[in-house]
Amino acid sequence: MAEAKLIDGKAFAAGLRSRVAEGVAALVAEGVARPGLATVLVGADPASEVYVRSKGKTAAEIGMASFDHRLPAETTQAQLLELIGRLNADPAVSGILVQLPLPRHIDTTQILLAVDPAKDVDGFHPINVGRLGAIAAGAPLDFPVPCTPLGCSMLLADALGSLAGKNAVVLGRSTLVGRPVAQLLLRADCTVTIGHSRTRDLAALCRTADILVVAIGKPELVKGDWIKPGAAVIDVGINRVPGAEGKTKLVGDVAFAEAMKVAGHITPVPGGVGPMTVACLMYNTLQAARRAAGLPFVAV
Ligand code: NAP
Repeated sequence: MAEAKLIDGKAFAAGLRSRVAEGVAALVAEGVARPGLATVLVGADPASEVYVRSKGKTAAEIGMASFDHRLPAETTQAQLLELIGRLNADPAVSGILVQLPLPRHIDTTQILLAVDPAKDVDGFHPINVGRLGAIAAGAPLDFPVPCTPLGCSMLLADALGSLAGKNAVVLGRSTLVGRPVAQLLLRADCTVTIGHSRTRDLAALCRTADILVVAIGKPELVKGDWIKPGAAVIDVGINRVPGAEGKTKLVGDVAFAEAMKVAGHITPVPGGVGPMTVACLMYNTLQAARRAAGLPFVAV
């Protein structure tokens, strides 16, 4: 059997970033204020620092203003709420991203609730979570949608065209990834099943899937013989495992080499879903800036 087609998330994300950059330039040409992304990082977690830096850098590259707020680990909840209040009120800020996880003494739910839903470019505010659950199939996504799930759905639509009627299995039910992915696939008229750590016979469930999205954080748990021949496989997992010469390497949640021989389409790790997250954050920020200016939603 022929090998699966690779879904090149890196290339798709580059194209999306450049379309967003064109959207930013068009807004500015119309005399609308330049879209601005505020990032907020509390503490000095090295992985979070890398993410925040790349978000700020990408925003600047595509012509957005970028506001980088670094707060010490001992910042109080009241101080963080005060900063969020200022960013909510600042017309130069179209989108606010509070990098998670926050230090343990801060109540994450209260912080996510404090972000203005219109500026919640991560899509984690309960109002936006509720909108995603309530939206009718085919209606425009004219509110912020979590970035990684949005990236998965864009890659699938690009690879397959219409998803209507397909059996989709999503492994993982986190509020960050699994649940919003399932909502987006439902909106695209798939028949959706969600698997998780208490699911009986995951392998049999996966074999029913025309579309299999895996977001569990377990290196290479999904084997080649779990995959229906010709299925589209989106591997969201990012796992560091021991590699050659004492180094670590990145692998997904799917045993890639085995899956390549069975699937119809597959995302690699790295270079699949990963690059889509920041590109979709920029997309959400552009849409937030358009809404703030009273302009309609545009698909880019
Ligand atoms: P999470 O919050 O830890 O959720 C993991 C989910 O997987 C849970 O629903 C859990 O089930 C389920 N699960 C765990 N072990 C399982 C097993 N053996 N069999 C079946 N289900 C199992 O993780 P997350 O934030 O959703 O992230 C998932 C993966 O995606 C991670 O590798 C993460 O690094 C990656 N990720 C990538 C990106 C990106 O590409 N940009 C963004 C976000 C996350 P229960 O609910 O029953 O516990």
